[in-house]
Amino acid sequence: MNLKNYVRDIPDFPKEGIVFKDITPALKSPEAFKYTIDSFQELVKDWDFDAIIGPESRGFIYSTPMAYNLNKPFIPVRKPGKLPAETISFSYDLEYGSGILEMHKDAISKGDKVIIVDDILATGGTTEAIIKLVEKAGGKVVGALFLAELTSLNPREKLTEIKVESLIKY
Ligand code: AMP
Repeated sequence: MNLKNYVRDIPDFPKEGIVFKDITPALKSPEAFKYTIDSFQELVKDWDFDAIIGPESRGFIYSTPMAYNLNKPFIPVRKPGKLPAETISFSYDLEYGSGILEMHKDAISKGDKVIIVDDILATGGTTEAIIKLVEKAGGKVVGALFLAELTSLNPREKLTEIKVESLIKY
């Protein structure tokens, strides 16, 4: 399966100069979606972790089937003001802008090892912010999985402490 055939470039979205990687064809195809989740599960089969983090919103799509299949807790990381209970937050830079991410304060227990599952690894800023959030909560990110990675943005320079795997490299 060549997953690259299921990701399309949308130029100048959400603003000029950004080439947006549209993953919706990889969701519309049941074969591509199954291949993605199966590949992720194969990659983590020897990893030791307690929970799976999915960053809003495309991260939810890939992380929840894994949490279900692997019988692991799912923890949402969201944009500010979305989570109803007490939260911890962290500011970060994006390829196109900046943002704040939040997680419920009680989502992670001290010593928990977690993995992140998301669609695109671009600058690595989001993943780095989640690593800090998890540390604030007393846990540790041990690895991260992505459908696609934009290698020209050198995201791995920010992520030297964790295992990083991506199914497609641009
Ligand atoms: P970053 O923090 O730069 O690694 O980007 C993380 C998130 O931003 C990804 O999970 C994507 O959802 C989104 N993103 C960043 N750049 C792109 C892009 N070129 N195309 C599609 N999504 C992107």
